[in-house]
Amino acid sequence: MIFKDELTNSKAFSQLKKDIKSRLGHAYMIVSFDDALTDSFFTLAAMRIYCERGTGCGECAECKKVLHSTHSDIFHINEKGEKIKVEDISKGLIDTVNVKHLVNRKLYFIHRADLMLPAAQNKLLKTLEDPPEDVTIFLGVANESSMLATVASRVRKIYMDSFDEDAIFNFLVGQNIPEEAASVAAACSDGMPGRALTLAKDEEYVALYRSALEVFKKLQKSSDVLAVESFMQKTSNVSKLVDLMAIVARDMLVSKNDKELMLSKHIGGEIVSLADGYSELALAKIAGLINNFRKKQSVNVNGVACLDSLLFSILEVRHKWQR
Ligand SMILES: [Zn+2]
Repeated sequence: MIFKDELTNSKAFSQLKKDIKSRLGHAYMIVSFDDALTDSFFTLAAMRIYCERGTGCGECAECKKVLHSTHSDIFHINEKGEKIKVEDISKGLIDTVNVKHLVNRKLYFIHRADLMLPAAQNKLLKTLEDPPEDVTIFLGVANESSMLATVASRVRKIYMDSFDEDAIFNFLVGQNIPEEAASVAAACSDGMPGRALTLAKDEEYVALYRSALEVFKKLQKSSDVLAVESFMQKTSNVSKLVDLMAIVARDMLVSKNDKELMLSKHIGGEIVSLADGYSELALAKIAGLINNFRKKQSVNVNGVACLDSLLFSILEVRHKWQR
């Protein structure tokens, strides 16, 4: 389980704690792009619900069964996070949902429920419309828009918090991630610790960060654009590279004011000298340009095709807003 303490104190979990105390609903949708964090949330939820001390202590017999995945009233569907078909819901849920529970309440955890095919969602809908007493179904959902409105309207929604970068950085360092990789990964994680951990363990990551610095070094005038574009295309992952360019641009901007607030403290000197060539306003606008590009890219797989226009825009902004 990752990020246990922070998650226990999160807004999202507090919402569930309140319900456990008063009256637990029949179905919840936990909305988060961070699959590992959703899995942690599921474990915490089950501990809290079954715990002999009512706290999710992690030490009583019930909590231990949850932690060791040996609890007979807990059912998991799609732990691998793949497509969920009708038969997965039939076998995993419909066949057992009306069978009497052993301890007090049966819990179903559907991982990446947004990957349920519509037919499977319709199958689930019948149970959601007429839920057996003492059954609670949790849906872990990354893309809320993939859920049928009929399903979404029958579940209580809990939106996962976005966590702050310092907390994520400390968590990563606690996982034995070297500080350099931890600061880059925390900065690129959009507040998601599970994603940060994946990034931090990704060996190419720090290398790509270096490449992001290199892009700003090489990009000086419009005749450089072609060469820089081809340099970017040759890196192992253009979209990650652009994410890292956003971090570099943000740090360049921050370095103009308070160097203490920079995320990538380990390469502070390089950032400061890179930032020398840009005005503060230009850097703010460039950070915005790169973020817009990332947004477009996340909805359009061909986003990489407009790399050259991103590079030209950076130069244009830099020139237009000199000092
Ligand atoms: Zn316990």
